[in-house]
Amino acid sequence: MDRGRIVGLGIESTAHTFGASVMTEKGAILSNVKDVYRPPAGSGIHPRDASRHHSEVAPSVIKRALSEAGVSFGDLSFVAYSAGPGLGPCLKVGATLARFISSYYRKPIIPVHHGVGHVELGMLLTGAVDPLVVLISGGHTMLLARAGKRWRVFGETLDITLGQLIDQFGRAIGLPSPAGPLVEDLAKKGRRYVSLPYIVKGNDLSYSGIISEVKRIIKKESPEDLAFSVQETAFSMLAETSERALALLKKSEVMVVGGVAANTRLREMLDAASSRHGAQLKVVPPAYAGDCGAQIAWVGHLYFLNGVYTKPENAWVDQSWRIDEVDLAWS
Ligand code: AMP
Ligand code: MG
Repeated sequence: MDRGRIVGLGIESTAHTFGASVMTEKGAILSNVKDVYRPPAGSGIHPRDASRHHSEVAPSVIKRALSEAGVSFGDLSFVAYSAGPGLGPCLKVGATLARFISSYYRKPIIPVHHGVGHVELGMLLTGAVDPLVVLISGGHTMLLARAGKRWRVFGETLDITLGQLIDQFGRAIGLPSPAGPLVEDLAKKGRRYVSLPYIVKGNDLSYSGIISEVKRIIKKESPEDLAFSVQETAFSMLAETSERALALLKKSEVMVVGGVAANTRLREMLDAASSRHGAQLKVVPPAYAGDCGAQIAWVGHLYFLNGVYTKPENAWVDQSWRIDEVDLAWS
């Protein structure tokens, strides 16, 4: 390893993914290894089963992340972990490992907000400077913009997230979770729009009515038409609120991050909304759209470079930590 180079380990374990990544302070991703828990078709993520999966794969994922990066535990400047929001038992697996590494190897430990991880890695990889952020993942559906030391919320879901809607829809038609890419393929074969609840309140949105209505009519409609209609309805709601936030904030960039950012139809709609306001759409590269350790390692560096870290006894998890409660140490 080069002397003087700062390398940090990031551990992600909020939900279905256990990931570990080693990055340098300049933003080079030396490794990004993950193993995703896949529940049986038709069922969702059971926190206990997902956390058992994480415990089982964790040693090999972390070992591979270090060996692919060509570093040992001793070379690390810090260990960062996703402290929330997420599923309690899953968060605990990552936090416990990070605490162990921190105390055994005497390394600073850094709790990272999972959503901030999605956003800041997106900033690094897309080169966005001051965007309207569309954060759409399993755990978040939010419109954000940076104001002072925080990411502020300019619209969000009032109930389930866009990722949850897609996965719950997938389960209802018998697909395994996470169902995003399969639902996207089905939707391309849909021919007829089936009317579904379109609920926007102020600049917030509500997706739970869509899934209730889908379940009511599921026997009468084809999975292809339903997938098409779920996507068209849910994505239009998000495009409408994003466009309104853009008109208010007058940003010149719109950055899309989170697992659902991989969806081509959604990108098309957000691209149209952005260009109507002269803004450029920037989408996180697909390999880094879903949950991964690099999101956590990078935010770890942002804190570490600003002298913000702690000791293992002060590390914690918070299942419902909100992104607008996080003080950002960097500008
Ligand atoms: P994350 O929590 O950021 O890992 O995002 C996971 C969510 O992204 C899951 O709900 C997936 O179903 C969803 N997802 C992944 N790929 C796609 C896609 N192509 N279209 C829609 N949703 C997707
Ligand atoms: Mg996520």
